[in-house]
Amino acid sequence: MRALVFDKTVSFQPRRNEPTTADGDTLIKVIQAGICATDLEITKGYMGFTGVLGHEFVGVVVDSPQKELVGQRVVGEINIVCGRCDLCLSGLSSHCRQRSVLGISGHDGAFADFVRLPALNLHILPKTVDDDQAVFVEPLAAAYQVIKQIKLDGRKWVTVLGDGRLGLLVAQVLRNAGCPVRVIGKYPQKLALCEKWSIRSRPLADIVPRHDQDVVVECTGTASGLELAMGIVRPRGTIVLKSTAAVGKAINLAPLVVDEINLIGSRCGPFREAIAGLAEKQVEVASLIHRRSRLEQGVEAMEFAARPGVLKVIVSIG
Ligand SMILES: [Zn+2]
Repeated sequence: MRALVFDKTVSFQPRRNEPTTADGDTLIKVIQAGICATDLEITKGYMGFTGVLGHEFVGVVVDSPQKELVGQRVVGEINIVCGRCDLCLSGLSSHCRQRSVLGISGHDGAFADFVRLPALNLHILPKTVDDDQAVFVEPLAAAYQVIKQIKLDGRKWVTVLGDGRLGLLVAQVLRNAGCPVRVIGKYPQKLALCEKWSIRSRPLADIVPRHDQDVVVECTGTASGLELAMGIVRPRGTIVLKSTAAVGKAINLAPLVVDEINLIGSRCGPFREAIAGLAEKQVEVASLIHRRSRLEQGVEAMEFAARPGVLKVIVSIG
């Protein structure tokens, strides 16, 4: 099969072996997949991953031990878990001690003709979610995770730091939750999207850190985002950290102590809510699609997606 593989560099492989499903996994023919900041971080060494990249996908089940899944259009949760360890048994299966992660750690991803996943990971899509919306389910679920982790009641000053792919999803989810959110970003065309969605926004250049925000959701994708978040959050406020930047940065963490800041890491989220949000048109994603590329042009597509200001790049496969 065709696949986009990372092994020190990214390459297109026209004849990679198809995944086997001998261990009871479900086999999915991929229709299309989205390029995520995490994919770009992996190419800089994040997670030390080698293999097929890609974890935001939509596809059709071609083989499964659960026969009712065959022919269904699905999206898939990315954590492949054991179901037996202490964390799995205590309801924290996304943190399973033996987990592998689709296209990120120990499990080939979806920039390929076929991908395998346990049937448990799959969600059947309603007709009201099209293939373009479907590639946003995984990142949108990560956005919904923010409102699972923090209480927004009475929080008046909430900032999403970063106007990238994830920041713009988080901002819509917070707006829908009735939160008076504003986005701080660098790119006029993205801040114009916020205006279209009735979300307040400010250019980063206009921001003077005043330690006045109740909540800051850090979605910059950069190592310096946390430092800026520490400058704008109020004492005893909350920073939700979404970026997984590969290149670390020495930061003075003393302000977290002095200002008694709550710092919350935030990763994967609920697929059900994300699918419902898309089906009910509560979250708009079509404006986030910047370019479509064929799998054969995957290397160039990754390079394009890494350029500043670029939103979602979709890799067409099926
Ligand atoms: Zn486990």
